[in-house]
Amino acid sequence: MAVPKQRHTKSRRNKRRMHLFAKKPNLSLCPKCGKEVLPHTICWNCGYYKGREIVDVLAKLDKKEKKKREKEMKVKEREEKGEEKAGPLTWEEMSKR
Ligand SMILES: [Zn+2]
Repeated sequence: MAVPKQRHTKSRRNKRRMHLFAKKPNLSLCPKCGKEVLPHTICWNCGYYKGREIVDVLAKLDKKEKKKREKEMKVKEREEKGEEKAGPLTWEEMSKR
């Protein structure tokens, strides 16, 4: 069996390990809801993949969460259509009116 002849220093050990770290996954944005999703994977926030609904996400949630999620989706759809923005106005928008 090969036996090390000399002990390696901490510096040498640490230099070897400097490339060992968890890499950040490259996420893409869901075109439906805008959340970050893994590429080639369905979005678990809205259950859509390639423009089709694959999983009914709302079916699994309880009543309270369901309402909350539906509200969020409605806001998102409204924003996409370019209608009036939901939520409070900023001071700049107030001064325009
Ligand atoms: Zn989504």
